[in-house]
Amino acid sequence: MSIYRDTERRYGLEVYPKRDITIVKGRGAEVWDDEGRRYIDCVAGIGVASVGHANPAVADALAGQARTLVTCPGIFYNDVRARLLAKLAAVAPPGLQRGFLCNSGAEAVEAAIKFARLTTGRTGIVSAMRGFHGRTMGALSATYKKEYRELFKPLVPGFSFVPFNNPARLREAVGDDTAAVMIEPVQGEGGIRPASAEYLRAAREICDETGAILVFDEIQTGFCRTGRMFACEHHGVTPDMLCLAKAIAGGVPLGAVLADPRIQLPPGKHGTTFGGNPLACAAALAAIRFMEDERLAERAELLGARFRERFERRMPARVRALRQIGLMIGVELKERCRPYIEALAAKGILTLPAGTTVIRLLPPLVISEAQIDEVVDVLAEVLE
Ligand SMILES: *Cc1c(COP(=O)(O)O)cnc(C)c1O
Repeated sequence: MSIYRDTERRYGLEVYPKRDITIVKGRGAEVWDDEGRRYIDCVAGIGVASVGHANPAVADALAGQARTLVTCPGIFYNDVRARLLAKLAAVAPPGLQRGFLCNSGAEAVEAAIKFARLTTGRTGIVSAMRGFHGRTMGALSATYKKEYRELFKPLVPGFSFVPFNNPARLREAVGDDTAAVMIEPVQGEGGIRPASAEYLRAAREICDETGAILVFDEIQTGFCRTGRMFACEHHGVTPDMLCLAKAIAGGVPLGAVLADPRIQLPPGKHGTTFGGNPLACAAALAAIRFMEDERLAERAELLGARFRERFERRMPARVRALRQIGLMIGVELKERCRPYIEALAAKGILTLPAGTTVIRLLPPLVISEAQIDEVVDVLAEVLE
């Protein structure tokens, strides 16, 4: 049917199991396929398009910067990068005043692992079961899922896993050789599972006692997704390093590690050619300004509550649990979710799996009330 599908199949070195939709255009919370069909996009580039597809403010910033300066390596200072670093420090949780810029989530995690080892002179990295931190070798070593890891062994030494939301087991696992504890405040890929306040506070305490660095991976939860600028603000627990990417630059590739003064790096020990380029920085400045002007954190909280209230009123019997925090939503079924994700797409709603039984929704935060209501209606209908 689609010539683009055939072309990608022929020339792409494919790593993803593909869905049979060719997306060619987006605006706000909607995308269109090559046959002109419209979808409400609760995938949003996997939690990337929070300020909406084809956001005019981001588009203007990109066009202007593309005509001014696209590339400027980290060996020079740059006006746009300086402004973005100051902006990140202004919106960051208290104390996280300095940032390192890279190009993706996995790169931010890689950097955090190296920075923690450099700072502490230790090697151990403790992360959580069901956690996801990316697919490069270091990030993969902190990622729990066996299917992602097994074929690539040996991975990086020094990594271990503890049960999520279990302070006692975390305490046992962290010792004199632990460089960092790495946690998602809400596990995304792992099925939309929020960390308890108790767990995050215990993690902070354990790191303070042992000298380990506390790293929060907010690559998926950051930038208003959960109803706060960063999910850790729900519980007032601040890490020593915060990993960011996904929604940071309105869809343009950019990652960041924000760090507190304890993180000290000797020059010349890490680097990236594209990281912090003016084009991505201009997009991020526009996207973050848009989040603030449009109060997207508040919006995520309100619309997430609206989703919950309406969905709970007609909760289908095959739903085991609804987990919702802002516009980060997981609908856990008592059976496999794949057929329902396909049925939803056929009815014009794009969603994601998180594991085998959870339907994950990460809509653009600019989604309208009417669109949220449409998502609830179709979801309830398909699941009934
Ligand atoms: C997506 C994601 C990553 C990896 O980001 P990439 O840009 O795909 O490398 C890491 N951690 C979390 C929590 C994520 O959601």
